[in-house]
Amino acid sequence: MEITFLGVGEACDCRYPNTSILLKTDIGRSFLLDCGFTAPHEYFRFCTDPDELDVLWISHFHGDHFFGVPLLLLRFWEMGRMKPLKIIGQPSVEKKIQAVMDLAYPNFGKKIQFDLEFMYMNSGEYLVVSDLELRTAETFHSQPCLALRLDEGEKSLFYSGDGRPTAATLELAHGCNLVIHEAFKLSDEVPGHGSVGGCLDFCRRAHVRRLALVHLNRQVRMEETDQIQAMINTVSGLDAFLPEPGDVVKL
Ligand SMILES: [Zn+2]
Ligand SMILES: [Zn+2]
Repeated sequence: MEITFLGVGEACDCRYPNTSILLKTDIGRSFLLDCGFTAPHEYFRFCTDPDELDVLWISHFHGDHFFGVPLLLLRFWEMGRMKPLKIIGQPSVEKKIQAVMDLAYPNFGKKIQFDLEFMYMNSGEYLVVSDLELRTAETFHSQPCLALRLDEGEKSLFYSGDGRPTAATLELAHGCNLVIHEAFKLSDEVPGHGSVGGCLDFCRRAHVRRLALVHLNRQVRMEETDQIQAMINTVSGLDAFLPEPGDVVKL
């Protein structure tokens, strides 16, 4: 399993693209986790084959997590994609994507020459797609957001989307090889958002040894990296880091 951090930023960050993760499975399937305003440009810097992407996961319906979908599909169309694309998300995902497509490029949806295959997940559900097992749990966020666990054989990845941990996400992440978690501030002062301190505690309780902190508030990312590193250093047995766009982790 190979993970590429296309973007690691929050919605308003002009230095870091929106958080978006590209996952390649061991048998070569390609998953994109979230696709916000600025994610497609990052995607196409790394991927030039229009048929490469198999599955798009949308954690929730804030613009920095799904407003990039019209551009992603437009570019696939322009590049001549023919392979169906699976899009997985909460039960309203098809309606939301149709709505954002209609606003961005009216009537374009009818021209797309490849199929969009929508699949739906609620919190606590289980789905097998390609060679991966998918499980979900709801985070604590300002709108419903699903954290996702992906298992491929012995390897496992947890991606929070947005939001603070809950008892259900803690259970979901248990023992994962890598947790990618949203951490907006150093501590839990913003309701509905994760924090560095909260994520460190989350990994300790979930028996996780590797943590990628993403979606940091832009001021925090610019000015408080020393404090973040000091917080990380207080936790033994955990490899916690702030990935940069383009960084790759292999599990
Ligand atoms: Zn959000
Ligand atoms: Zn967000």
